[in-house]
Amino acid sequence: MTVYKKKVAFHTLGCKLNFAETSTISRSFPEEKFEKVPANSKADIYIINTCSVTDTADKKCRQAIKKFISLSPGAFIAVVGCYAQLKPQEISSIPGVDLVLGTNEKFNISDYLSGFEKRKKTEIHSCNIKPDEDFNPSYSLGDRTRSFLKIQDGCDYSCSYCTIPLARGRSRNPEISSIISEAEHIAGKGVKEIVITGVNIGDFGKSTGDSFTSLLKELVKISGIERFRISSIEPNLLTDDLLDLAENNEKILPHFHIPLQSGSNKILGLMRRRYTREIFTSRIKSVLERIPLAGIGADVIVGFPGELDSDFEDTYSFLDNIPLSYLHVFTFSERPDTLAEHLPGKVSFTDKEKRSKRLIALSKKKNIIFNNLNAGQYSNVLFESTRNEGLITGFTSNYIRVEYPWESRLTGQIKTVRLTKVSLSGRMNIELIE
Ligand code: SF4
Repeated sequence: MTVYKKKVAFHTLGCKLNFAETSTISRSFPEEKFEKVPANSKADIYIINTCSVTDTADKKCRQAIKKFISLSPGAFIAVVGCYAQLKPQEISSIPGVDLVLGTNEKFNISDYLSGFEKRKKTEIHSCNIKPDEDFNPSYSLGDRTRSFLKIQDGCDYSCSYCTIPLARGRSRNPEISSIISEAEHIAGKGVKEIVITGVNIGDFGKSTGDSFTSLLKELVKISGIERFRISSIEPNLLTDDLLDLAENNEKILPHFHIPLQSGSNKILGLMRRRYTREIFTSRIKSVLERIPLAGIGADVIVGFPGELDSDFEDTYSFLDNIPLSYLHVFTFSERPDTLAEHLPGKVSFTDKEKRSKRLIALSKKKNIIFNNLNAGQYSNVLFESTRNEGLITGFTSNYIRVEYPWESRLTGQIKTVRLTKVSLSGRMNIELIE
């Protein structure tokens, strides 16, 4: 007798941490009972793991919820995560939503599902995050090329524009030993690269008396995992100890993504960031003294309240003159319950757009300069598993995207390559050395 398995689809919005967490939630749906289907297909249950970092993120969440409701009318709709934590009522006002679970409750989703019956009234569970909140370990196991491993959650900083501490609570992490066990489990699945994720990962150890560098020293001992990529680290937490380790251990990839946010000290002050642009510069210098071809990216926010044309020009020339390999540009959006919401000097939509376009163009220019600087160099590439227009792509250790004619034997493999030239797509062409 064939048993009908309920079709369940997972959809994730936002950061790598959310992806790792969705992956963990999806593993709580046993394969004997559920058939996991892609989010754009018809399903009986949709689990939408949301983000609320900007207005646009909230909007994308609402659009996704409505899309799934119209794709499969009658399906059970569960909305979980940061947006669900911060705005449960807003979500429950969308007709068809059955369940809303906050950032902690989402890990116990099976306790709330009872038969997947459509609810007459939306059920909401999004408790306040307590300071000593449990840590919910998570990692992703997608295409078995790389895994996102969560090592930390929450944040004790109080950047004036950010709602993440409200959505995820205070900084916390598990013991190093429990992260090592998870990483060993991931290694056992044949994964070659772990991307270390969290909300503020440089803060690792605060709740257990350890440090991020001591965690890395243990992680690199695991056999099977050949690469550890640090997803993002605050400039003030990028210590010389950490850089010394990265310089001397090739498993720590020479790629640092550092949230700068603004190149104007006036704006950094208004943002309540914990560094100045001079400190940022000194960190970049420390990286490049040790690892001259390290890939260094930065997040930048344009249009923060009080950002005059002259402040933006300050940021622009700062970024133009500092050796970064790419920028991630964000347009400021006002979040309720933040200090920035009440700051004077709002920037018009048109000015935000103009500034954003200029920085995106600058990012492209910097990326080409960085790629050209690497032309002729040897590097290691981890090849991905998706075929795109007859090509296979992958990333070098210092985060240059490369392309090569498709060969299925390369998927999930790390190979030595020589970078030749920048292709029309902006990726690097390579020669395979093997
Ligand atoms: S460091 Fe600042 S921007 Fe990042 S999560 Fe913490 S409060 Fe938000």
